[in-house]
Amino acid sequence: MKTLAKKLAQSLPPIRQWKGPKTAELLRSPGKFGLGQVPTSVKPDATTNLVCGFCSTGCGLNVHLKDGKAVSLTPSTNYPVNLGMACPKGWEALTPLESDDRATTPMLRKQRGGELEAVSWEEAMETFCGRFKEIQAEHGEESVAFISTGQIVAEEMAFLGALSKFGMGIKHGDGNTRQCMATSVVSYKQSFGFDAPPYTYQDFEESDVIILVGSNLCIAHPIMWQRIERNKHNPEIVVIDPRRTETAVAGTQHYPILPKSDLSFFYGLAKVLIDQGWVDRGFIAEHCNGFAEFETHVASFTPEFVQQQSGISPEQMLKLAETIHKGERVSFWWTMGVNQSHEGVRTAQAIINLALMTANIGRPGTGANSITGQCNAMGSRLFSNTTNLLGGHDFANEAHREKVGAITGVGAENITKELGWTYDQIVDGIHAGKIKGLWVLATNGSHSWIQQDKYSEAMEKLDFLVVQDMYSSTETAQQADLVLPAAGWAEKDGVFINSERRVGLVKKVAEAPGQALSDFNIFRLIAHYWGVSERFAKWSSPEAVFKMLTELSAGQACDMTGISSYQMVDEFGGIQWPCRAEDVPALSRDNQRRLFEDGKFYHPDQKAKFVFGDATPVLEDTDEEFPYVLLTGRGSSAQWHTQSRTIKSEVLRKLHPAEIYVEIHPDDAKGLGIRPNSKIKIVSRRSTVEVTASVTPSVYPGQLFMPMHYAKANKLTIASFDPYSRQPSYKFCAVNITVD
Ligand code: SF4
Repeated sequence: MKTLAKKLAQSLPPIRQWKGPKTAELLRSPGKFGLGQVPTSVKPDATTNLVCGFCSTGCGLNVHLKDGKAVSLTPSTNYPVNLGMACPKGWEALTPLESDDRATTPMLRKQRGGELEAVSWEEAMETFCGRFKEIQAEHGEESVAFISTGQIVAEEMAFLGALSKFGMGIKHGDGNTRQCMATSVVSYKQSFGFDAPPYTYQDFEESDVIILVGSNLCIAHPIMWQRIERNKHNPEIVVIDPRRTETAVAGTQHYPILPKSDLSFFYGLAKVLIDQGWVDRGFIAEHCNGFAEFETHVASFTPEFVQQQSGISPEQMLKLAETIHKGERVSFWWTMGVNQSHEGVRTAQAIINLALMTANIGRPGTGANSITGQCNAMGSRLFSNTTNLLGGHDFANEAHREKVGAITGVGAENITKELGWTYDQIVDGIHAGKIKGLWVLATNGSHSWIQQDKYSEAMEKLDFLVVQDMYSSTETAQQADLVLPAAGWAEKDGVFINSERRVGLVKKVAEAPGQALSDFNIFRLIAHYWGVSERFAKWSSPEAVFKMLTELSAGQACDMTGISSYQMVDEFGGIQWPCRAEDVPALSRDNQRRLFEDGKFYHPDQKAKFVFGDATPVLEDTDEEFPYVLLTGRGSSAQWHTQSRTIKSEVLRKLHPAEIYVEIHPDDAKGLGIRPNSKIKIVSRRSTVEVTASVTPSVYPGQLFMPMHYAKANKLTIASFDPYSRQPSYKFCAVNITVD
């Protein structure tokens, strides 16, 4: 390998793009060459707004600098998303940057079973390219894959997707966004003709009926909940969720459906609306296809059948249908309770169908609205080059390849014609011996992937695992052969796109520690060492790439050609797509943009489509041996996913239990002699974990809830996926309880 790396290094062209210096020199004075610690463009004693780097709400945070150092932050009062509010994570957003376990230098495990050792960027790059090329030479180009993230800026996502697929011959790459958003992507594409969440946050304030499905908004998206609290229409707040969550308690109606009965429930609700004559047949005829078939499909979902499936009585169903009928502006919102399901796509589409049949779309306070998870999941949906070709284009379409090849400078002939494997297929491909090299960026699958052991074991089977991350301490980084130290949020420039399609700016206001580089600059180094830097000559800076991305969006539903610069994004307080040049004057008057106000959807005939299917059984139902359903989800507003960042904050740590716990209903606890805070074991067919019992009526008898933030939770879950979106179904597996 060493010889190959040496050979490769010798064959490399001079580093022309940086005017001659060797990598070591580059890294000694990186700012001089456009790499690494480039001085921020923000004035050293200024206050500047940037978009938060945790969740998809996309709040604006004012970061205050003193002597060039970010010293504190406050929520922006004039940013149209959060209007002066922030959740605990936002307030503590700077803290994780200072953590001791930041990756500060490349680290290489020189032999199996050995320790990770600090190496130079030169050695890291030679090894990275040498090992991956060697694996490709031996097992084929497809034997190397990547798994990325919804946490990096869109320019970096696009660069990774282009460099890997059009430069390095990597076919299979996916993101951790598969875990949260894939279902909504497929649902919207099939129903509307494009992946297009139609709403603006102002809709939370305009609705008179707000229906939240599988969404604990109060803690998962607290600022969106605050927007509901600003609603002056005294809205009905309907919560459809198996758990009596914080949001269900705060709402006005709660429908605690049985876990994974949602598809039958929504088809039953559609039937009640049809039977009562509470549908808008004029709107349907003018703007939709497939309603007659849908009407026939739901005919068998009688109230009695639905009660049997969901536990919700015919009277309750009628009450809900009547609430929708009486509402003038009804909005439907869903998130992970729907998306993370074995039949999430059809369930999301059942919700979309309700909005279409009642004409609750395209008007203020309405919509079939998927709430996204990660800060840049929406950027990843358009620009990661995984589920579609850059800019919502189609890999299989020659004209699209020509367009992307010309704008990006990579050449259409280098663009692949097919989608690669999804996340779960990549993991299976490793187990099958087809994937031998993996590049993991800013995600921690050995903690977060469903049926975690399967992922973790896959990492051990690889010939070469590279982890590019802010931290060298994550479970996945600890398994790596090579760790590439990356800058984090606020240490680099770029854009995120939030849930309401708002492009928001992230700025460099802090220096990355040690030799850590922005992901963007790591990609530039890799392009050079791989020998394809000429092909990526146009990818010279984040803003240059941003301009390419807007150009790529031309003529697409997500057209943002009216956004001319970072400065424009900054001045407007973020800009929602679409934004063409002709949209800019209206934008100046009202920075809120909603889709489908003209009743035109993105299918060729401009109509939306009723999409539906049969309900299907869960992969693993309860039985005598495993009689409880385990639900997983967010535990508190102070925790973010695998906690690699939030755990670094002393403030946030005080806002949630330190150890993993399980919520159990008082009746179940009493029957088993379980007292609050006692240690119990939860057993699934995959594993057994010891947890603390939290006895609470927030879960119903026969159900348990475990927060996903603790690594043990996914030892229990089962690898079950939606067949259309390949999104994991985290919300249902069968378990038992043992008490010593
Ligand atoms: Fe950041 Fe989301 Fe909290 Fe807003 S709600 S401050 S975007 S984590």
